[in-house]
Amino acid sequence: MELELESILLPGIEEKRPLVIAGPCSAETEEQVMDTARQLAAKGMKIFRAGIWKPRTKPGGFEGVGVEGLAWLKEVKKETGMYVSTEVATAKHVYECLKAGIDILWVGARTTANPFAVQEIADALKGVDIPVLVKNPVNPDLELWIGAMERINNAGLKRLGAIHRGFSSYDKKLYRNLPQWHIPIELRRRIPNLPIICDPSHIGGKRELVAPLCQQAMDLGFNGLIVESHCNPDCAWSDAAQQVTPDVLDYILNLLVIRKETQSTENLSELRKQIDECDNNLIQELAKRMRIAREIGTYKKEHDMTILQTGRYNEILEKRGSQGSLCGMDSEFIKKVFEAIHEESVRQQMEIINK
Ligand code: PEP
Ligand code: MN
Repeated sequence: MELELESILLPGIEEKRPLVIAGPCSAETEEQVMDTARQLAAKGMKIFRAGIWKPRTKPGGFEGVGVEGLAWLKEVKKETGMYVSTEVATAKHVYECLKAGIDILWVGARTTANPFAVQEIADALKGVDIPVLVKNPVNPDLELWIGAMERINNAGLKRLGAIHRGFSSYDKKLYRNLPQWHIPIELRRRIPNLPIICDPSHIGGKRELVAPLCQQAMDLGFNGLIVESHCNPDCAWSDAAQQVTPDVLDYILNLLVIRKETQSTENLSELRKQIDECDNNLIQELAKRMRIAREIGTYKKEHDMTILQTGRYNEILEKRGSQGSLCGMDSEFIKKVFEAIHEESVRQQMEIINK
């Protein structure tokens, strides 16, 4: 299914990478919201974020200030002219946000993982024209992520974007949420005109990782960044370790190298021709290898031998794995390639045996 999409850019927002959304994890007090917003606006930020309702892993944590905070966001809009955005998880949140004039809504990772909740939000949004950003679900499930966007799209909302915030994992050694870049990359391949916004704060979980993650997202050609920024990060009521001051955020953004999205140049075409030639050779060699494998299949049939010979299979994986590594490739990668080749050989030999 295709999504019917329109631009998420609001009047006055330039079509320039990265589109930046910045603000605290949570709205805590009117003072904290206004102080952070003023500093961000002074740095030229155009879209403010702040969580009003916070889905917390355990009860007892700070669960957000609730509707009271929406008035502070209204004030941010009035005083700084920034657009304001927040997370919605229920139909009630949607109604409250629309009443308060919130400009952009986002669906959080825990909500995206729950189709009932997403449907409820989609139903509440029927007939409303507002940009909605959908965070990836906590689990690495691209279909569930796309499905959530389809539900909202089916309700008539066309201004959609995806937020890549990483995927939960038991291993928290480096990242809070594993980036698994291949998932947003596949999303881009499947829905090329869907804007992808990276959330380095929730992927990294720590300040030091914000800059390198922003750069990686830009190197992949993603459209925007949503970054948690707080006037006093160490004292934040939620996600303190990953928030940066507006000054630091401005510094990080200024250092980003933004590469052109040009798809091709003359030199690149020349190199791509060479790649095409390699791919041609690979296919021909593979076809030749399969012909020999079929001959082996016939031989095994005639001599009543089993197709699968684990000793030989292991020998191929080991030998080619170390050879690949000597040639500067990851041996695990080469093993995967040969596993796939071997699987196809076995399939072809089965055909011969069962003829
Ligand atoms: C957030 O944006 O503050 C948040 C709760 O993020 P996520 O839904 O990605 O966990
Ligand atoms: Mn947060």
